[in-house]
Amino acid sequence: MLWQESPWQKQLAEAIRDPQQLLAALGLDPALLPAARAAAARFPLLVPASYLRRIPPGTPDDPLLRQVLPLADELLTSPQERADPVGDLAARQAPGLLHKYHGRALLITTPACAIHCRYCFRRDFPYRDNQAGREHWHDALDWLKRHPQVTEIILSGGDPLVLDDRRLGQLISELEKLTHVRRLRLHTRLPVVLPDRITEDLLDLFRKSRLTVVTVIHSNHPAEIDTAVRTALAALQRSGSRLLNQTVLLAGVNDCEDTLAELSETLFDAGVHPYYLHQLDPAVGTGHFGVSDRVARDLVKRLRGRLPGFLVPRLVRELPGQDAKTPL
Ligand SMILES: *Cc1c(COP(=O)(O)O)cnc(C)c1O
Ligand code: SF4
Repeated sequence: MLWQESPWQKQLAEAIRDPQQLLAALGLDPALLPAARAAAARFPLLVPASYLRRIPPGTPDDPLLRQVLPLADELLTSPQERADPVGDLAARQAPGLLHKYHGRALLITTPACAIHCRYCFRRDFPYRDNQAGREHWHDALDWLKRHPQVTEIILSGGDPLVLDDRRLGQLISELEKLTHVRRLRLHTRLPVVLPDRITEDLLDLFRKSRLTVVTVIHSNHPAEIDTAVRTALAALQRSGSRLLNQTVLLAGVNDCEDTLAELSETLFDAGVHPYYLHQLDPAVGTGHFGVSDRVARDLVKRLRGRLPGFLVPRLVRELPGQDAKTPL
């Protein structure tokens, strides 16, 4: 019922899903439409107004637009691209529970996101059979109960903050009953994409939890961090959550020393520590975002030459079957 929705849920419901509407909103060439429609048929377009506002009109190469606009390039696929690029399915221990690394387990809480990033590594993930959401927490919680070596639970998806505060509260209280769990980690793009998601009720959940909360946001460009995002991040920090950021290295978005340096500085000013700089996972139709390892290493070397060490993210790639992300 609409009148019961919070502002962020309304914003999500009203997000742009039609390529024509996106092109019109930004005054872009209608000639982009056929390709956008074709690519969106494989992985739908989704972008909320809160993100759109940060994209200047009439700029087809804008680094934020490039993350959301479906392009003809996505229809060019290569044999090394895979529907399950990081071996998620082999790591499945219960519906929606992935266990790859010592001491950490990851829950696929929902298939939904507030934005569709064109380079997403889970764009082809078979969510229907692999989510711990709704009525299916039981098996995942049962597995966790039997694995006391797991001290950190990662809420992922999709995006765990698409769950409403009530459901998230229920999940957190179930996890708090597992005495061996110390940390709750959320992997979320919502503080960046839809900052109104950071509600008082959510902050209360974090404040009251016995678990140490770590929020790992996902930002790829300093222009994503506007005033509303800073306000949301400050509130998260006041609630006691530690804040980290992961970036995906993306051609035409952030494969530039100045951009990455400014991103680290901007994040740190907002209370966020740079964590990982990920090499792109080879999901189907994402090759045009790829940056070679040579260029990636050179970028990070130059960051090291101009930033304090704590502002240089760790350059990693996720290889299936390894016991940690692989440093490059
Ligand atoms: C990436 C990932 C993690 C987290 O790895 P860290 O190096 O601790 O950030 C945990 N579980 C799974 C399944 C992952 O893919
Ligand atoms: S927010 Fe994360 S899971 Fe969702 S589309 Fe973007 S990269 Fe993929």
